[in-house]
Amino acid sequence: MLDYQTLLEKTCQHVEPLSHQGEVATYIPALAEQKKGQFAIALQTTDGKVYSAGEVSNKFTVQSVSKALTLTMALQRYGDDLWQRVGKEPSGTAFNSLTQLEFEQGKPRNPFINAGAIVTADALYSRLSAPIHAVLEKFRAQSGNSNVVINRTVANSEYQHRYRNAAMAYLMKSFGNFDNDVEKVLWSYFNYCAIEVNVVELAKTFSYLSNKGVCLQSGEQVLSAKQTKQLNSLLFTSGLYDAAGDFAYRVGMPGKSGVSGTIIAVLPGQFTAAVWSPGLDSYGNSVAGIAALEYLAEHINH
Ligand code: GLN
Repeated sequence: MLDYQTLLEKTCQHVEPLSHQGEVATYIPALAEQKKGQFAIALQTTDGKVYSAGEVSNKFTVQSVSKALTLTMALQRYGDDLWQRVGKEPSGTAFNSLTQLEFEQGKPRNPFINAGAIVTADALYSRLSAPIHAVLEKFRAQSGNSNVVINRTVANSEYQHRYRNAAMAYLMKSFGNFDNDVEKVLWSYFNYCAIEVNVVELAKTFSYLSNKGVCLQSGEQVLSAKQTKQLNSLLFTSGLYDAAGDFAYRVGMPGKSGVSGTIIAVLPGQFTAAVWSPGLDSYGNSVAGIAALEYLAEHINH
């Protein structure tokens, strides 16, 4: 049997030098305060066991990893109708690119770039009476920690510096692909990004992705087995934006990254992993995080 605990500890040692590399995100001032040189990794296997190593209790905001959960919640409510408003193709452009959105008449390429997640947030806003509360509660139920909270400083900081995201949302509105008040939807989107967890909570939140759609904490069938496979396929092709091909080549697992330096990765039928290390590469993905998942993948011989 594979000794995951030893493997995670070795992964920590392996990536320690890399955790000092890259740059922390500065376009959200509250994130600029994160210190480099930190690293944590956790995984939950489909039999429910949890393994972790590094700075496991440190909290960080989920940022774009929230997009995988908000997409899940939108698929629960709209099914395939959601794809009338957002595409399924890799973008090949940065997560906050505006140019493609103009060329493609306000329909974002996929739900993992910012425009795609904002239109998904708009769809959720139409169906939920208290959307921020609903998404937070989902994180709480699936992470197994009812004390998960939203980091208000980060949410406010993102809202104050929302220029690019607001430009995308208003552009979509001008093309008729936006139903609700732009500012209210943006506020909900920033709150989803500002949900604060540690790596263990994050791996647990996404356990359903490796477990045919069933969350190991809540026992809920979050998505059908078929939808789970579809979501994993989209994560594989688009979860790391314009670096998705490189991540697929190096790691070979569906994944989703966020600018706080976190990444989740899914090995269907085996485990969901989460890593965190704030130093980012030029694509906005964690340098040590990707290296850690690459090392993990190499040593499990999948
Ligand atoms: N909250 C961030 C933003 O909207 C999320 C981006 C990311 O994590 N890549 O810009």
